Amino acid sequence: MEGKKKVFRKLVTQNEVFKILESMNFKIGTERISVVDAYGRVVAKDYEAITDSPPFDKSTMDGYAVIAENTFNADEDSPVELKLIGRIPAGSEPKLEIENGTTAEISTGAMIPKGANAVVMEEYCEERENRVLIYRAVTPGENVMYAGSDIMAGELILREGTTLTSREVGVLCAVGYSEVEVYRKPKVAIFSTGNELVNPGLKLEMGKIYDINSYSLISSLKEDGAIPVFLGIVRDDEEEIERMVSKAMEFDAIICSGGTSAGAGDLVYKVFDKFEPGVIVHGIAVKPGKPTIIANLNGKPAFGLPGNPTSALMIYKIFVSPLIRKMAGLEDKKDKVISARVPMRVNSAVGRVEYLPVNIVRGDEGFSVYPVSGYYSGAITALSETDGFIVIEEDKSFLEEGEIVRVRLFSDEIKPADLMIIGSHCVGVDVMAKFLRENKIKVKSINAGSSGGISAVRRGEADIAGIHLLDESGEYNVPYLKRYGLEGRCYLVKGYLREQGIIVKEGNPLGIRKIEDIVDKSVTIVNRNRGSGTRILFDMELKKISEKKGVDFKDLTSRIKGYNIEAKSHTSVAVSVASGKADVGLGIKTVADRFSLDFVPLRAEEYDFLILKSKFEREEVRKFVEILKSAEFKKSLPSGIRTYERTGEVVVI
Ligand code: AMP
Ligand code: MG
Repeated sequence: MEGKKKVFRKLVTQNEVFKILESMNFKIGTERISVVDAYGRVVAKDYEAITDSPPFDKSTMDGYAVIAENTFNADEDSPVELKLIGRIPAGSEPKLEIENGTTAEISTGAMIPKGANAVVMEEYCEERENRVLIYRAVTPGENVMYAGSDIMAGELILREGTTLTSREVGVLCAVGYSEVEVYRKPKVAIFSTGNELVNPGLKLEMGKIYDINSYSLISSLKEDGAIPVFLGIVRDDEEEIERMVSKAMEFDAIICSGGTSAGAGDLVYKVFDKFEPGVIVHGIAVKPGKPTIIANLNGKPAFGLPGNPTSALMIYKIFVSPLIRKMAGLEDKKDKVISARVPMRVNSAVGRVEYLPVNIVRGDEGFSVYPVSGYYSGAITALSETDGFIVIEEDKSFLEEGEIVRVRLFSDEIKPADLMIIGSHCVGVDVMAKFLRENKIKVKSINAGSSGGISAVRRGEADIAGIHLLDESGEYNVPYLKRYGLEGRCYLVKGYLREQGIIVKEGNPLGIRKIEDIVDKSVTIVNRNRGSGTRILFDMELKKISEKKGVDFKDLTSRIKGYNIEAKSHTSVAVSVASGKADVGLGIKTVADRFSLDFVPLRAEEYDFLILKSKFEREEVRKFVEILKSAEFKKSLPSGIRTYERTGEVVVI
């Protein structure tokens, strides 16, 4: 280990990593290429013009070359008459000379003949045998582009670091360059590690997942001016990884993902450490992406990114992208930054800088940011519709409600939606969104739960909130809205019914008919998270049973296996039952059908839409209500969700 400078198994801070990366010098050199291939490449040196452009005084019009002074008396009523002494086409050197009283026909782009100092456009001239009548005076220099007036020999035409577009390529050609020196595009080897990985398109066997990272990284690398080369997937096997890394050594940089944490199958760092100086950073004090490896393999930069797809992409963006861009000669990509409000308290890990992806919503009080869910578990959709991310410093354990933060945007502009729906997620809303888009209404829906939706409506951030809150009284939504102090301020548009019930295995092998069977037959359940409508329904039913049986509610629930296992969505309840982890769970029929599970109906849940009075007359909102009531919408709803006689009814709160 003598002489090896590395920080090993000690978390390195974000700023230390930036410094380390900045001090690394992985120049890969330049190449000369034809201007034909120059588009998009980065110029590797300053370019000066080697000739004038244009190289001679040239006519910018079709017309007659003249001595301007000869035309001074010309006007529409009294033309000046000049003797025609020849014609000058483009592309050849004129042999004639213009003297007082003479002219020559000249084409656009042709060389101005000796003696002439202006061109009269042909519209103002009339040829009569060997004479030309000039109906308009011209000033010296009119319609003439002088040699070097565009670009003068010796002038700086392109700076090092410029990305070549059609315009710059044009400039190069104007002064005669047929080749240009550009930065070589870094060739970057990419591979994935993990026994569970399969290439997209192949059949997935149990326990396998598709390789996401290599493909999302390939796309990112292209944006950063590199040539990514995918080398494949390797198993969690030291020798296999070593063979792959040896192969990767012929490229300019190496990026792999997975196998970077301290688990038994995590062997990337061992392999990287067989090179000199080897691993430089193993573990960064950030979230997500702590298990990141940065290494120098005999002078080549190598990154071991976390396997979690969203972490891999975020770490690439923060740490890898700047280095690759530097190698490619590109400037740092400066994200656009805006200020926004945090609408609810957000907890954060102390001791690590956190990169939190957010959705941006425009409200009455400016922009607000909604954290994107599913991010830390690696849900790739968490990034696909995300507007940007905020950086929470390592010493902060939370962001306060109302705090102003800076948001780094993923694209150069925020595209506010025409209609913002925030609330509890429902497939019915997805169907609605499809219809709205067909009506050219840009809609965005954010899953913030029913109560999150109500708060967003109050702040003017959501135009509509989808809610389904069951009150102890048995009534849906209205009692909650009164309690939230929304009386007099909003309308509740009745939505649709979602059939709720007990999701059981196909054929209902345990013969579950009612909630009481769950208690009596001591089956294993998967519960829903506290605060969800389904959970409230379940607990209400259990309370009735506990009263009937004369047992304490707590005692009753402690006897139910899995009561404390909380699934966060209907789908995950269905997956638990389908995979056999649980015998039963409460949820909506829609997902039971999707997973071919059986369903015991309990009661229909009223999913409604909350809308502020002040927004109700908006055209997009009116369209929303119109679609809700339409026959097409009714037909498009999946099984288990149905409109009814109250659909579209407006309840004044
Ligand atoms: P690892 O870093 O290998 O411990 O992986 C962390 C998580 O990311 C695991 O759930 C892996 O299955 C997943 N994962 C690893 N590599 C990939 C990949 N290339 N594409 C998608 N998911 C991955
Ligand atoms: Mg792995």
